[in-house]
Amino acid sequence: MTDNSFHPEFNSESLLDPKDWEEFRKLSHEVIDDLIDYIRTVRNRPAWQSPSPEARQALSQPVPHAGADIREVYARVKKNILPYPTGNIHPRFWGWVMGGGTPVGILADMIASAMNCHVSGYDQAASLVESQVIEWLKEMFEYPETASGLLVTGGTVANLTGIAVCRNTFDGVSVREKGIADCGRMTVYASRATHGWLDRSCDLLGLGEQAFRKIRVDERHRVDVAEMRRAIHKDREAGFIPMCVVGTAGTVGSGATDDMHALADLAAEEKIWFHVDGAFGALAKFFTKYRSIVSGLERADSIAFDLHKWGYMQYETGVVLIRDAVARRNAFSFAPSYFETFRGGIGVEPTEFAARGIQLSRSFRALRVWMNLSVYGVDRIGAAVERNIDEAQYFRALIEQQPELEVIGPAEMNVVCFRYLWPGLSEDELTERNRELLVCIQESGIAVPSSVRVNGKFALRVAHTNHRSCRSDFDALLIAVLKIGRQLAKSFSAHHSANER
Ligand SMILES: *Cc1c(COP(=O)(O)O)cnc(C)c1O
Repeated sequence: MTDNSFHPEFNSESLLDPKDWEEFRKLSHEVIDDLIDYIRTVRNRPAWQSPSPEARQALSQPVPHAGADIREVYARVKKNILPYPTGNIHPRFWGWVMGGGTPVGILADMIASAMNCHVSGYDQAASLVESQVIEWLKEMFEYPETASGLLVTGGTVANLTGIAVCRNTFDGVSVREKGIADCGRMTVYASRATHGWLDRSCDLLGLGEQAFRKIRVDERHRVDVAEMRRAIHKDREAGFIPMCVVGTAGTVGSGATDDMHALADLAAEEKIWFHVDGAFGALAKFFTKYRSIVSGLERADSIAFDLHKWGYMQYETGVVLIRDAVARRNAFSFAPSYFETFRGGIGVEPTEFAARGIQLSRSFRALRVWMNLSVYGVDRIGAAVERNIDEAQYFRALIEQQPELEVIGPAEMNVVCFRYLWPGLSEDELTERNRELLVCIQESGIAVPSSVRVNGKFALRVAHTNHRSCRSDFDALLIAVLKIGRQLAKSFSAHHSANER
């Protein structure tokens, strides 16, 4: 190595680094300024808008063989991309279950991007950061010190990982060596209200979607545990291998939480794995006054949850915790010759994290978690979760006061499902018109609820995991629903009388 390898001009040898770093610095400062304004003024823009025809045109261009000036490209970003986000950064976005992202997360992602760490393991700060946040999360979820954890892309992969560890380490079954064909018919038990990840997991893990025994729910939309027990016994008698009981903390449809203690007891009696999908609901555990709703979650063999939903952090931030670290190691360990472990150097446990799950190349998402928790503290994030539940209950009360509206389903936590009741309409007509109402609200840009079927009825759904909302935002949604609902009533009756004529 010669001295001149550190000469400033050396960088300009790269085909991809800027020739003029000062110019790059200037532009970078402008970008940051723009982004801060973008977030700060988000309330003044529509909650959602469809990309313009110009934007669509600009984003269907041929392969750019010769590049363009970065300022010109950034101008295109400002014109065609930034104005058309999903909408979840907006205070009146309550569609599906999405988090808003935090300002701290913006900085964390920028720093992580500059470091561009490969977090399969290795002796590096990123590994220490990920270990640290896993330790914190274990403690917050009352998991034993010996448990293992991993940050993954999201809830689907976190849940899949939990079930994969269960399958791969299930007593007397050696799926890893022999494949699924030799292992008998393994079955999984969960409520009908379980999110679609479980069908996909059963499919991907070779169990087949029929292995997912869909158990009915009670009037509060919690799984019927007695029915689940009967299903397990019946299957066992018929030669199936019951493998896992799954509970949900916060169902995607109505926000219901299964009786975690009853499920943990059942799994213990039956000597099978207990997995919890706590994608958003698990966050009630963050020292909120609603903590008892998810009590018993800590007894699970594996827990999956997202920090990009109710943890408010940027995508993609999912977490899986596995109680038995040995089981986890047996499920995913691998040892290719290009990943030897050394006593020193960078290769100290180079696959520490890669051997905990599916991904080898892994991003430094842990920095986002570490910085958010370090800056806000768990208590503040918990306070935001608590406020969301309070606001959802406020909205539920608003709906209940309106004779034209009806709450559907339990609405006990942060999810409120409702519909407009136009008098004299059949169920099918109510569905059709509530679908129309939903689209009108979204296209108005005032707010974004989504939809779901609850008890067979079509409902508008407000799933509140938004740290930017306040009560007046829910007032605004209510006013829009009533106004558009009344307008639709008029247009229906005009249409109706036109048809009669
Ligand atoms: C969102 C969600 C999932 C899936 O998580 P992703 O992060 O979207 O992959 C699973 N279960 C429930 C209850 C969810 O709300």
